[in-house]
Amino acid sequence: MLKPTTVLRRFIEEAENTYGPKLRYSSVALVPEGEISNPFTSFCTDETNQSRMAIVLLGERTFADEALAEYQLAHEAIHCLAGSMPTTCLEEGLATHFSLHNSVINGDRAKRLENVLDQERTAYLALIRQLLCKWPNAIRDLRHGGARPFGEIKIAELVEYGVSQELAEILCKSTDEWRTLRLPGS
Ligand SMILES: [Zn+2]
Repeated sequence: MLKPTTVLRRFIEEAENTYGPKLRYSSVALVPEGEISNPFTSFCTDETNQSRMAIVLLGERTFADEALAEYQLAHEAIHCLAGSMPTTCLEEGLATHFSLHNSVINGDRAKRLENVLDQERTAYLALIRQLLCKWPNAIRDLRHGGARPFGEIKIAELVEYGVSQELAEILCKSTDEWRTLRLPGS
């Protein structure tokens, strides 16, 4: 089995080739975090040498499960590429899309994984597909071929690109906002 850090690095490279360069940071650290089922990526600054690094929290059992590691790390590679806080529906949709369509996961394996996505991820996936089916290069174009965070992509830029106002608005919503709209009272 490849080391999870190697798997992640390869996915980030693959994502860069399709969606443009990653943010500037010095390193990526994978941190085992108990029994979490959903990994999490954040960025922090190392004050001693003034460098920025990406931190991916990964459930402990993922380190021993190659298939699970590939699936979760493909998703996190998108957050490592150009993640923003708060995360937008565009970013979460792209992460879900890339976790199912990459050089390692595809075909029947992708179909099986897609069938067990939760309702929220299924919704984000449907949104990003509306964009990518029509404009496969939209993400790279909207990042201007540079290391632009996903969260900086504006509704007006999507509309100017040709996307409907309605789709542009929902893609730029934070996932927190999406949840409160879709799941009122919860
Ligand atoms: Zn995610």
